[in-house]
Amino acid sequence: MTAIARVMVAPLRAPTASTRRRRAKPPAIGFVSLGCAKALVDSERILTRLKAEGYAIAPSYEGADLVVVNTCGFLLSARAESLDAIGEALAENGRVIVTGCLGAEPERIKAAHPEVLAVTGPHQTEAVLEAIHAHLPPPHEPFLELVPRHGLKLTPRHYAYLKISEGCRNRCSFCIIPKLRGDLVSRPLPEIMAEAEAMVEAGVKEILVVSQDTAAYGLDRRYERTSWRGEALETRFLDLCRALGRLGMWIRLHYVYPYPHVDAVVPLMAEGVILPYLDIPFQHASPRILAAMRRPADSERMLERIRSWRRVCPELAIRSTFITGFPGETEADFAELLAFLEEARLDRAGCFVYEPIEGAAANLLPDPVPEALAEERRARLMELQERISAERLREKIGRIEPVLIDRCDEEGRTIGRTRFDAPEVDGIVVVEHTEALPAGTILPVRITAAGSHDLIGEPAAAS
Ligand code: SF4
Repeated sequence: MTAIARVMVAPLRAPTASTRRRRAKPPAIGFVSLGCAKALVDSERILTRLKAEGYAIAPSYEGADLVVVNTCGFLLSARAESLDAIGEALAENGRVIVTGCLGAEPERIKAAHPEVLAVTGPHQTEAVLEAIHAHLPPPHEPFLELVPRHGLKLTPRHYAYLKISEGCRNRCSFCIIPKLRGDLVSRPLPEIMAEAEAMVEAGVKEILVVSQDTAAYGLDRRYERTSWRGEALETRFLDLCRALGRLGMWIRLHYVYPYPHVDAVVPLMAEGVILPYLDIPFQHASPRILAAMRRPADSERMLERIRSWRRVCPELAIRSTFITGFPGETEADFAELLAFLEEARLDRAGCFVYEPIEGAAANLLPDPVPEALAEERRARLMELQERISAERLREKIGRIEPVLIDRCDEEGRTIGRTRFDAPEVDGIVVVEHTEALPAGTILPVRITAAGSHDLIGEPAAAS
């Protein structure tokens, strides 16, 4: 489960008569990208194809001949935000094509916004391009050489998301992603590696591996034999991690379902082949609730696995997400979840209140939990996790850590991240006593202080 994020390719403003007159050729597309990192990768693919075909990407509503809205349909709040974004694009520009997860329900979109030109569903790049061609034909001569080999990215130049598969083979009862995006379809390993290499050539320093279920990679391909740069490999999670690790970049794994075979990648983390970081959504810890969620239902065994991972890789950072207020969750189930958190001592955790997504099997379960109670439990969980996260961060004081510089903030402070923090979702390091450094620099930093979420440090050479 991932939180909604909204990316506009550029701030979009209302058109004026003078800017309409100034509108330049070639045909220009405005793009609004909502949702998770997987949706962001879809947006990048569509934008890459559009750019390759010679379209311009408009930085504002007034410069756009047509606007594409890539929607999110996971949570109720995400659906509402998607419908609002479509309404805004219609009001500001008037010519709108909708794609993405909410596009799987065209009647819902047409009911709210009958004026949209076309609706296509999730990961339907060809369909959305066809719709764009129909309503705004491409220019005659595309300038293919203007497009970088790794495609256009909406992330800063020094990190990029790498999507390794589409869809999901699990059937968690609270989730409709498999209905929206279909079953697991893994990309061929050489194709993924070629994209990763192109990212490295383009200056990317950190690759964030994403999918709905990263650890399931290759299962649908029956782990077919393949090769990359002369090395025999199998299309599986472990071989992909090894191959990516050889690029010499920071490789970070997201959305790893807790299968036993995850154990095999932890030694790669201990050896420094990939980052010692696992984003592994546990969702709950009560066996009763996990069974109702149709998730692996043995929290004791899970705790033992976490302990064994830490024996192999003591610096491993684990981030997770949880749901409170799942139907039938009692105070005893919730207490079990809190006890799990106390034991597991995760580095980071997010928590969502259960939402009865239309079409989810969990909606048929008895004993719904009142929203206020679910929210109160979420707050209690986050309060506990804040203490644990702060304790974990304090353990880092005095250590020297490589820090990837992300930016200078508005106060002129240099902001970066350690290997234990992903962009957007985790914490930062404020690096004091340093000149402004270009984004993408990796600097040894001595950690001098810690808060509940973030760290403070200074260049190791200066301390
Ligand atoms: S693992 Fe479960 S929650 Fe995640 S996408 Fe698949 S079905 Fe949904």
